Amino acid sequence: NRRIVLAARPRGAPTAQDFRLEQVPVTAPADGQVLLRTVYLSLDPYMRGRMSEGPSYVPPLALGETMGGGTVSRVVASRHPGFREGELVLGATGWQDYALSDGEGLMPVRDTAHPSYALSVLGMPGFTAYHGLLNIGQPRPGETVVVAAASGAVGAVVGQIARIRGARVIGVAGGAEKRRYVTEQLGFDACLDRRDPHLAQQLAEACPDGIDVYFENVGGAVLDAVLPLLREGARVPVCGGIAHYNDEAPPPGPDRLPMLMALVLRKRLRLQGFIILDHYADGYAPFLRDMSAWVAEGKVKLREDVVVGLENAPAALMGLLEGKNFGKVVVRVAD
Ligand code: NDP
Repeated sequence: NRRIVLAARPRGAPTAQDFRLEQVPVTAPADGQVLLRTVYLSLDPYMRGRMSEGPSYVPPLALGETMGGGTVSRVVASRHPGFREGELVLGATGWQDYALSDGEGLMPVRDTAHPSYALSVLGMPGFTAYHGLLNIGQPRPGETVVVAAASGAVGAVVGQIARIRGARVIGVAGGAEKRRYVTEQLGFDACLDRRDPHLAQQLAEACPDGIDVYFENVGGAVLDAVLPLLREGARVPVCGGIAHYNDEAPPPGPDRLPMLMALVLRKRLRLQGFIILDHYADGYAPFLRDMSAWVAEGKVKLREDVVVGLENAPAALMGLLEGKNFGKVVVRVAD
């Protein structure tokens, strides 16, 4: 039984030395427990935050603690009345081959043809896109929606739902291949390159009437390009800021906070942060109903970037933070 623990707190971008693979014995389940074999492990940007100390919405990992994460697992031994051997369950057992559970927080995986969807389009990232866009962004037909990390787990779903709602959607992504995928396969109206030095000008040309909804995933150069284009009354669901997750200090330069606040006031902007964990009790069931239908009808597509082998999870998380992934990253830990 392998597990990967936090070996050191990263300075800036994580490196291989910040992780350690350990071997530990597998223990048989006690009465009321199940033994789970990890099949898929989800890799997500928030994991970078947990590697550092400091304020976040999930507590930091302790040094030596197993890296956390959402998982789809197979029940390999059960002494719990609610679970049968062979069944697939969604849980959060982290970066390890096997885990014991008392059943708390485990949910059955219904779509056994695509079990990894429970970690992607039908799971946390899909729900994040759905809740943030529809409840906070509230796009109306004909409005312009902008989202970056547009080929990724959240951004791809944001854009496709916005299209379903009749909005124009402009994506931002890293590189020609991702941009092509976003327009040709996902049906966005356009997709720009986040590294292009003329991004601000290109975004202005792509949004001649301005921006009504900016779904904030990244910060950095994309946010800079977006701000001057926001229309009066624009909505900004603040979901994440991956361009800054490895920052050790505030970026150099003048203090632009007063300008931002003046813009919020003058343009009557609504910026609202949200953490998806708060919304499962009320929102998950309606999300699952709508999204399952959209996926079945082919209205929402999803690309998964499947990494094979638990031992490759550290490199894959490092790559995710740099945009080396192409689609939702899941690690295939076992068959
Ligand atoms: P993705 O699958 O989109 O992968 C991350 C992507 O971020 C990369 O592929 C890359 O895309 C982009 N990226 C990396 N560095 C930068 C940079 N410097 N500037 C701009 N883009 C960059 O990840 P997710 O869809 O899982 O997550 C997207 C965002 O949503 C993150 O900010 C995450 O923290 C947030 N989130 C928030 C939740 C909440 O509850 N609030 C829940 C889930 C996610 P590319 O190369 O195409 O630019």
